[in-house]
Amino acid sequence: MGTASRFPVEVRSTILHRAGMCCERCGTSSSDWTGWSVHHRRPAGMGGDRRPEARGAANGLLLCGSGITGCHGWVESNRTEAYGLGLLVPRPLIPAGIPVQIVGNRWVLLDDEGNYIPTEGRAA
Ligand SMILES: [Zn+2]
Repeated sequence: MGTASRFPVEVRSTILHRAGMCCERCGTSSSDWTGWSVHHRRPAGMGGDRRPEARGAANGLLLCGSGITGCHGWVESNRTEAYGLGLLVPRPLIPAGIPVQIVGNRWVLLDDEGNYIPTEGRAA
């Protein structure tokens, strides 16, 4: 296991600030969480993901729960639906170009500066 696909501290900070310390899928405030994680939209897979966009803020989402609880758990156990919502991004694609549905059923593009860019939703 390497650290090539981990988010740098400053990128995690950008994501937490963008999210306002609330889960970006369900909106629950961090004060009510039992756990949280910065989820990689594009799975790193075996051996990690060394492409630069893997470590950008557009590839991360702040989600409540762990790999088995909360929204992070939901993504891990509903992967087909999560790909449809942009919560997961297929490995050949660039996360910044894939819309994601966040809290409030808003469709946005993410950039690496920590912005939400409103966009049209995708067909289910
Ligand atoms: Zn949540």
